[in-house]
Amino acid sequence: MATSPLTLTELTELTSGLNRLARNLWWSWDQDAQDVFHDLSPRGWQNLYHNAVAILHELSEYELRMRLNDPAFAEKVRKVLSKFEAYLNQPDTWAAGAATGLKERPVAYFSAEFAFHETLPIAAGGLGALAGDHAKSASDLGLPFVGISLFYREGYFQQAVNHENWQTEYYTLLNPKNLPLEPVLNARGEPLVCSVRLAASTVFFHAWRVNIGRVPVYLLDTNRPENEPHFRDLTLRVYGGDSTTRVLQEIVLGVGGVRLLRALGYTPSTFHMNEGHAAFLTLELIREKLAAGHTLQAAAEATTRECLFTTHTPVEAGHDRFSSELMSYAAHAFTVDLKVSHEELMDLGRVRAGDLSESFCMTVLALRYSRAANGVSELHGLVSREMWQHFYGSKTVEEVPIGHVTNGVHLVGWMKGTVRRFWRAKYQQLHPDKGDLDWLADANTVEFWKEASDPACVSDSELWALRYRLRRELVEFTRRRLLLQGQILGRNDFITFDGFLNPDALTIGFARRFATYKRAPLIFDQFENMVKLVKDSARPIQFIFAGKAHPRDDSGKAYIQKVIHLSKFSELKGHLVFIENYDIHVARMMVSGCDIWLNNPRRPLEASGTSGMKTTSHGCLNLSILDGWWREGFDGTNGFAIGPDSHPSNIDEQDRVDSFNLYKSLTEEVIPEFFNRDANGIPRQWIYRIRRSLATLAAEYSTWRMVQEYTRKYYLPPVS
Ligand SMILES: *Cc1c(COP(=O)(O)O)cnc(C)c1O
Repeated sequence: MATSPLTLTELTELTSGLNRLARNLWWSWDQDAQDVFHDLSPRGWQNLYHNAVAILHELSEYELRMRLNDPAFAEKVRKVLSKFEAYLNQPDTWAAGAATGLKERPVAYFSAEFAFHETLPIAAGGLGALAGDHAKSASDLGLPFVGISLFYREGYFQQAVNHENWQTEYYTLLNPKNLPLEPVLNARGEPLVCSVRLAASTVFFHAWRVNIGRVPVYLLDTNRPENEPHFRDLTLRVYGGDSTTRVLQEIVLGVGGVRLLRALGYTPSTFHMNEGHAAFLTLELIREKLAAGHTLQAAAEATTRECLFTTHTPVEAGHDRFSSELMSYAAHAFTVDLKVSHEELMDLGRVRAGDLSESFCMTVLALRYSRAANGVSELHGLVSREMWQHFYGSKTVEEVPIGHVTNGVHLVGWMKGTVRRFWRAKYQQLHPDKGDLDWLADANTVEFWKEASDPACVSDSELWALRYRLRRELVEFTRRRLLLQGQILGRNDFITFDGFLNPDALTIGFARRFATYKRAPLIFDQFENMVKLVKDSARPIQFIFAGKAHPRDDSGKAYIQKVIHLSKFSELKGHLVFIENYDIHVARMMVSGCDIWLNNPRRPLEASGTSGMKTTSHGCLNLSILDGWWREGFDGTNGFAIGPDSHPSNIDEQDRVDSFNLYKSLTEEVIPEFFNRDANGIPRQWIYRIRRSLATLAAEYSTWRMVQEYTRKYYLPPVS
């Protein structure tokens, strides 16, 4: 069949459609959309780190036009664009039926960090990943929702490791033009500029809009010419600088965020504070109401009805505290706005009013002005009630009004391409009459994962083949990264790392922030035993580690140093590796390619943990302390537990017992089951566990479930 070149109108439609698509991160969870950008430039896809906007910039207008003259490719693009349109305009979303009350008054979700995609590194860890996934599922569910955060133009640091195996940090400048960011403009087409008062200055900011499917997220940016230089750099880095930077950033986030929303015409029904960082928004809401003529008490009560607070950690350092001196310097404007004295302002962040020894705690401020508060797992809810009981006077622990919603992940977004294609094809076989929008919803349901995990849908050998493919992809990815890491340091004692890692080996992954309570090197407490296991060539095992320590956390850096040091021991070389610069791409590679996802925090400090939830759809199994989500998720058949549902109160005792139990689980359950193969070479018991993990965990620990739970429990009914 002869085909004529596209008409100019068609061409314009497709190119402008592609430009629009690249600036909506929806493409990152739709495989066909991703494939279009990959196909435009396969090398660019890798070298530009999966950056759709940058890939379009790489292609000349002429090349793009000529490429679209390929009828098959043009058809692919057309299909993706119409799918995108259908998604944006979907009338029958979950929220259209279940949350009609929020239609005119969306949920405004404030978070100091959001992790959406590896090209926009404006998050430090799990809190950001959760916020990003919350926004993606809010979009999929059709929930009226708007996000607020800061635009950190140097993002979070990039990690390298020096010759002493010590973490070093470096920063690269993000270029908004090459990112899925759109400047927020006023009616005259100029940047919309708002201001906040910081210390004795007025500081101006503009904003960038990130499109997350149907949901906008606004990133505030103080990099404006009219600001003093130190204020221009205020939003430079995620949690950058000292506590002065921190408190000023948090005023921009909380107060500035509310002002931006007002300037854009929003009247949110709920202001959801994801962690205490955003709690200054409550004071701005009170100020607004005072200005409208309310009394202080009425303003405070009305504000409390509008606000919701999620606390994310029992670790003390995770709760911001600011000294009286700092507050009087940085936050003086609040005393003017609220017509209160400095000590009265301080009392809003204190458990005991008038206690001069208490600093200003953002968690206390958030609890004070929230209609409800929650932790992020059942155990964390309980621990938080105990932790904050003293704030609630005479209430018993049970009466403390802090509930819980267990975290989840955006399941389809976390799937590696291989796996997304795999389950999508299975879905098509099971439900030939269903379309793309159905898949996006049904991929989060218990019913689908029950069907999908059944041998009638996928055989043992097929699942095992998938596991082999994913492990191979991870091994090759890791070798390439090791090569690049070596090049950065100018190490040339290896030409390649092809002898490193074994695609047949039981692959154990550990990747998370190197906060000390997560105890990264715990498994090597039994060093001699571990060496013996690694040396058993009949049952090969290997370890892949990754993670960043906070720039000022020397104990965390010492843990990194220990792991890398061990990886250079001749006994462990090639069987233990550390991938530098952990981010959400490394995370995706690891949760898909590993067989075991190791999690050994000091209980009960892992409030939820979410990386383990990203493993399920890939058939990787969890081996974890019964802390956070795993205490709820583990049922004896769907993964492995380290130790019982309790812990010694003495920390040294806990470390000793946990290390013993970890070794015991590995040698008595994990390793024997993985290597117990039948006549066809298939580990039947292991695969049964994968089926159980798919059936019982995938849907339950999704943000699709989580956002519905927030909506039912906390977002509805909206305040009138
Ligand atoms: C998911 C994720 C985390 C959170 O992992 P935890 O299990 O909570 O430790 C941290 N960092 C990145 C990059 C992630 O993708």
